[in-house]
Formats: sequence, structure tokens, C-alpha cells
Amino acid sequence: MKPLPRPSILNIEPYRGGEAELPGVNRVIKLSSNEGALGPSPAAIEAYRREACEIHRYPDGGASALRRAIAIVWNLDAERIVCGAGSDDLLCLLAQAYGGPGTETIVTRHAFAMYPIYAHYAGSTVVTVDEREYTADIDAILAAVTARTSLVFLANPNNPTGTFVPWGEIVRLRQALPESVLLVLDLAYAEYLADPAVPEVIKLIDTTANTVMTRTFSKIYALGGLRLGWAYAPKHVVDVLNRVRSPFNASRPAQAAAIAALADSDHFQASRTHNFQMRAWLSEALESVGIPVRGTEGNFVVADFGSIGRSADAADQAFRACGIIVRKLTGYGLPGMLRITVGTPAEMEAVAEAAAKFMQGFDRALSHA
Ligand SMILES: *Cc1c(COP(=O)(O)O)cnc(C)c1O
Repeated sequence: MKPLPRPSILNIEPYRGGEAELPGVNRVIKLSSNEGALGPSPAAIEAYRREACEIHRYPDGGASALRRAIAIVWNLDAERIVCGAGSDDLLCLLAQAYGGPGTETIVTRHAFAMYPIYAHYAGSTVVTVDEREYTADIDAILAAVTARTSLVFLANPNNPTGTFVPWGEIVRLRQALPESVLLVLDLAYAEYLADPAVPEVIKLIDTTANTVMTRTFSKIYALGGLRLGWAYAPKHVVDVLNRVRSPFNASRPAQAAAIAALADSDHFQASRTHNFQMRAWLSEALESVGIPVRGTEGNFVVADFGSIGRSADAADQAFRACGIIVRKLTGYGLPGMLRITVGTPAEMEAVAEAAAKFMQGFDRALSHA
């Protein structure tokens, strides 16, 4: 008999990332994975290159210099930061350390797909609660709490919906949740908010024993290929993560590149400004041709074709015909929507043009009907 995993693992559907290739097209515009539009800081690339001759050496397993750099930039306690191979790594560790058979993990209907995957892997029962207007509903989360609830995962802003719950509501959630429930706030898109220092969240983590924040270098820092994220947590949670994480879960080149990226505040600001401007530009371009736009708090917008009785599949085909890959959200239970990452001005022009053409084609088809 062949070795078998725990039965629950075979019920997990593998995560499907944004597609990267179109058959027959050699210059693809890839807007399917929320990668930073401007690319990484040139200083980060340079630091990465400098590490090339050192890659026979193990990295600093404690990522001390990187944690100090993060702590300085965001004014945090370096002792309460843990780094990981992407924030995904840390989310998985939290799901396992605080979940498990007999416990319940709460996620919202259109939450980031990795939460249920990691919760199932841990053997936890996943409790999915409805949202309101594609936004996490704090009262629905609270209503789902039972004596078995041990974890709540919440991305704010959320991916893929791009919606945001005001921090005051998050504070209310924390206050109403039982003390034994760990609230994991996934802030992968925090840097795109008006205040990326998120003082309300830091205060929650500093003043409660049961709130964790995860952050990533994959989005605004555009280092997704290096796999680096971090968590900020109470001391006892940091201690747990340090017991169970892989000893070298942040590679040498990743640590070096991230330190350089943190030091390049000009590039960070330029990336923020670019996102504010292009996100607004893209939203307006889509709306001006009649495509409703939802959630726009991250570095992507959600085009809602279903709400105007149009097919997101057909729109996806129209984008593909123009060499543009966006993200279909059928797997997220949002078959009428497409998620479009904010890219360069030229990429956004191409999206606007393809969207306009698609809408015109549809209108022509209608008038001939
Ligand atoms: C991109 C993303 C992550 C994963 O980031 P990595 O650090 O690359 O693992 C986590 N949560 C959300 C909501 C994301 O969109």
C-alpha cells in the first residue's frame, strides 16, 4: 500500500496563480499577480547581485539586520518581527501552530485563497462567513465564533476584492472576539493605503496579546520572486513562530535586497504615487466605457462585468486577444469579475483600449441583434 497523507489534504485544491503566458504572443502584458508596477528599487537589484558570490554561505537565520531595518522604517520593536519565505510562509505557520483538528478557522467568502488551504492543511475546520458588498462583515465574523474558534484570517485591504474595512471596525472586531482567538491581519497591501504606517493596527498588536500582522516584500517592493515577508506579533507568538519556522526561511539575496529596498525611500514613494495615479486613471478609463469598478484599495482594480450583464469570460478573451493577461476570479466565486493589476502607463493604455474595444464590440453586436 502506498503512503497516504491525512485524508483532508487530498480535498485541498492547489492554488492557481496568475497566468504568465499566452500561446503565440511573445510580448505579454502580465497583470494577473499584483506585482509592483515599477519593479524593484535599482539598489535592491544591485544588492541582490552583490550576494551572488556569497550564496554558498547560509543566510543569517535570525535575519537580524533585516529585522532592524524593518523596525527602523516602520518604527517597530525588532524583537517582535519574524521573517519568512513570503508572508505565505508565516500564514501557513500560524494556521498550523494555532489551528489543528477540533479547532475552527474563520475566513470571509472572498478571502485570499491561501487561508482555507493552510487551515485545511492544519486539519482545522474552515468556517466561511458571508461578506457585505464584497467587504468583510465584522458582525458576520463575530456571529460565527464558537468555543472551537482559534483563528480569524482577514486581509485588509482584501485580495482579490480590493475592499477595505475601516480600522475602527477592526478594533471593534478585536475587542469583541474572545481573547483566546488569534486575529491575523494580512496587510499585504498596506503600503498602498493613505497611511502605510497603520498606527491603529500597530497599537492593537502592542496592546493585545492576540493580534498579528503579516506584511510582504512582494507587492510594493516588487520582490515577489525572492519570497520574503514578515510578521509583527506579541512576544509569545514570535516565540512560537521561531520554534516552528525553517531555520533559514529568508534567503541571503532576499535579505540583502530587502534591506536595500527599505533604504530607497524615493523608489518607495515613487511606487506609491504611481499607484495612486494609475489606479485612479485605470478606474476612470474603465468606468468611462461603462465598466463598473469595485475594490480599489490595493495595486489592482476589480472590473465588474457581471453587474452590467456582460460576460467576464468574453472580456478576458478580448484582453487576451490584445496580449493582456488579467486575473479571472471564477475560482473565488466571482465569475462576473476580472482583477486587473496596476501596471505601467503603457500597459494601462493598452488595457483601456482593449476594454473600450470590447464594450464597443458588444454594443455593435446588440444593435445588430
Ligand atoms: C500577495 C499576497 C500575499 C502573499 O505574499 P507573499 O509575501 O508573496 O507570500 C498574502 N496575502 C495577500 C492578501 C496577498 O495578496
